[in-house]
Amino acid sequence: MAAGVEVCQMGAKAGSKAAAPFPAQEHDHGHCATSAMDRAAAICTARGVRLTELRRRVLELVWTSHRPVGAYDILAQLGGPDRPAGPPTVYRALDFLQENGLVHRIASLNAYIGCPDPGHAFAPGIMICEECGRAAELHDSAADNALSRAAAAAGFAITRRTIEMVGRCRDCAAQAA
Ligand SMILES: [Zn+2]
Ligand SMILES: [Zn+2]
Repeated sequence: MAAGVEVCQMGAKAGSKAAAPFPAQEHDHGHCATSAMDRAAAICTARGVRLTELRRRVLELVWTSHRPVGAYDILAQLGGPDRPAGPPTVYRALDFLQENGLVHRIASLNAYIGCPDPGHAFAPGIMICEECGRAAELHDSAADNALSRAAAAAGFAITRRTIEMVGRCRDCAAQAA
């Protein structure tokens, strides 16, 4: 019981820091995509892994917008000499990107979004707007710690976490009002 109280206090304290805003409908998305590609290249160099042409193309396609994309959508958009033979090639590229924290898989949609801050320690929560279909990450280290502690108190060690929140983004709420 005492542990539970401690978790709540921790959550209230650190949870008060501002979360990154859900991407506005109107924004310079070219900047999102360019900065994500730059970060991806830097991470791959630092880790000594290869961002091959196919992996780079797949990541670019994921970053086309903030709407999650599935492997078959990506396959359909790949063209030219790099066009892979079939879905397994695309899945392998996505696995690579996921393992290196460059994309996150949204289990409920079986689709992927690009990570704007690759290399973060925790699996993020994913906010999904059911009106415009865009998705974004939510990071809250206090919530992460609270969950880990609560799980530990329950005698459980978390190895993988999936937190997906469905709702309405600010833009869609404003349009509905
Ligand atoms: Zn953007
Ligand atoms: Zn991320």
